[in-house]
Amino acid sequence: MKIGVFGAGQLGRMLAQAGERLGMEFRFLDPATEISARGLGEHLCAAYEDVDALEQFVRGLDVVTYEFENVPCEPVRWVAERVPVHPAPEALRLAQDRLFEKNFFQKHGIPVPPYGAVFFKDEYRELLQTIGFPLVVKTRRYGYDGKGQRTVRNQEEAERAWKDLHGLPLLLEGHVPFERELSLLAVRGQGGECRFYPLVENHHRDGILRLSRAPAADVPAVLQSRAEEYARRLLEEVQYVGVLAIEFFQHGEELLANEMAPRVHNSGHWTIEGAETSQFENHLRAITGMELGSTAPKGTSAMVNLIGIKPDGRSSDGLPPAHWHDYGKSPRPGRKLGHVTLVREALEVLEEDLPSFLEIAETVL
Ligand code: AMP
Repeated sequence: MKIGVFGAGQLGRMLAQAGERLGMEFRFLDPATEISARGLGEHLCAAYEDVDALEQFVRGLDVVTYEFENVPCEPVRWVAERVPVHPAPEALRLAQDRLFEKNFFQKHGIPVPPYGAVFFKDEYRELLQTIGFPLVVKTRRYGYDGKGQRTVRNQEEAERAWKDLHGLPLLLEGHVPFERELSLLAVRGQGGECRFYPLVENHHRDGILRLSRAPAADVPAVLQSRAEEYARRLLEEVQYVGVLAIEFFQHGEELLANEMAPRVHNSGHWTIEGAETSQFENHLRAITGMELGSTAPKGTSAMVNLIGIKPDGRSSDGLPPAHWHDYGKSPRPGRKLGHVTLVREALEVLEEDLPSFLEIAETVL
């Protein structure tokens, strides 16, 4: 099987690492010269819209996927006319715009915070009134890792946010006083079979994921099944094939959807060592029509992102055992350079071992 991937960042890298074990080959299309997936397949270094490059990209491929949700939809559709593309380009279109995404959730009965789209100042003023403070102003497109968004608590902050973000289509949404953030990783195979990983608890700082714990502690069965039911509706609606991640805010026993990612997700990296089948392998199994693997956790896991910090040689520093991942990127502040995963049988042991890793990652939660 030869698989084409739009994007060659760390998600592409980990997909290819999982695929190697399944005997798969990879070809990446990514305009960056320095790529994380280096050495794991062919790299076509060209713009996503470059038709000559696209012609070359699709040649001899069995299936195409994407690891980056800001790939423009047009080239993905162009490719889909020639080679099967999973997940369907429609899922990509929905996930690229926060308004489409929120409408999609709402249409399928999935709770969301109050929201609305604005472009002009008078619309902004009106919606500030309707939703009320505190609220969050977000750009509809190209927002990730907390970029392009401001929390607004009063009129003064509202003016500042307008100054910074106006001129772009915006989404306003009520600030949710959530107890915690959870995500669900779901996978749907070509025959329609769905499997779900246990809900993951996520901790962000400055809008960037710092720590994921899986399975999330104290999740009543009703919450897990609610999340699965929500995911199933979305997967079936677009005849989705592959891994889908949905981020939720937990408020009591309610789950409010924040966003979805039509791809493997950072909050699923723990599955590489902490689950029977990793999200990467299950994504590949799904898109190539293989049977899905078990999503059962192997124990209790914690995944710590290394942001601006190189994982080199850290594992030998007399720390408890852990799985270190280096994405092979050059260091830059705020950049995800790797992650480390701890898997333990007992939660108490995990609690004991985790603080030294958070310290290395300079993660204060
Ligand atoms: P996003 O880019 O939408 O994933 O937002 C990044 C982070 O900002 C989330 O993980 C939350 O921690 C926070 N956030 C985003 N939207 C809201 C909201 N409506 N209410 C409270 N916190 C939010």
